[in-house]
Amino acid sequence: MSLLSTDGLVKDFGGLRAIDDLSMSVDAGEIVGVMGPNGAGKSTFFNCISGVITPDDGTVTFDGSDVTGEAPETLARRGLVRTFQHTRELETMTVRDNVRLAAPDQPGERTIPALVRGDAMRSHEADVRERAEELIELFELDHLADDYSGTLSGGQRKLLELARTLMLDPEMLLLDEPFAGVNPTLTREIADHIRDLNADGMTVVIIEHELETLTELVDRLVVLQQGSLLVEGDPETVLSDERVIEAYLGGEVE
Ligand code: ADP
Ligand code: MG
Repeated sequence: MSLLSTDGLVKDFGGLRAIDDLSMSVDAGEIVGVMGPNGAGKSTFFNCISGVITPDDGTVTFDGSDVTGEAPETLARRGLVRTFQHTRELETMTVRDNVRLAAPDQPGERTIPALVRGDAMRSHEADVRERAEELIELFELDHLADDYSGTLSGGQRKLLELARTLMLDPEMLLLDEPFAGVNPTLTREIADHIRDLNADGMTVVIIEHELETLTELVDRLVVLQQGSLLVEGDPETVLSDERVIEAYLGGEVE
């Protein structure tokens, strides 16, 4: 069953068609990789499906509902949450506060996981604090919890952003270049976290340039070129496709 699908999605920036009649779908439980050359429209695709920008044409369906043009907060409440290519945490705030602040203002039906629900008399703030500590621990950021986020390395920022995202308890996670600027050790760590989240039932879509890590992680690859779907399929098939080698790898592939 498809959890997310787009049908005939179009987004123009002035004279440039960044997304061109894009129809694709993601099944519940999948990890899907989105690749394609710079400027192919990958981030714009995420922007359209996560409500950051409104598509000019076409529809986005999530969990059976037409969610085209809905605001990011509304989509997050439905369980669709994204990260950004460039991290957006507040640098002059501590790691702990950044994680806590990512929680929604109001307790929602699915915003704080069952794990910490339990006690009905407990305040939403107490739930938020407890969940934040769990995530800080999970991502091994404990020793940095009181540090300003601005002092973190690129990889640690990606972990922080993942922790912030999980405060929203997503059903589907959209990750825009989670390994960009991250050293190999942290890359493996982040990849393992993504695998664990997926094993726990989370559906994940990942935009990534680092093909080795991406290929190991995903069930399926989707290749975009000039805003259109060029090829999709299992990683092996896609990476050996002539059109992909031509478009994406500049004719060089091992
Ligand atoms: P990718 O993430 O695949 O590198 P993008 O989705 O960022 O590609 O960009 C696709 C195309 O749309 C590029 O040509 C880019 O310059 C253009 N574009 C993206 N966002 C905007 C914007 N907000 N305004 C104008 N042009 C944009
Ligand atoms: Mg991008």
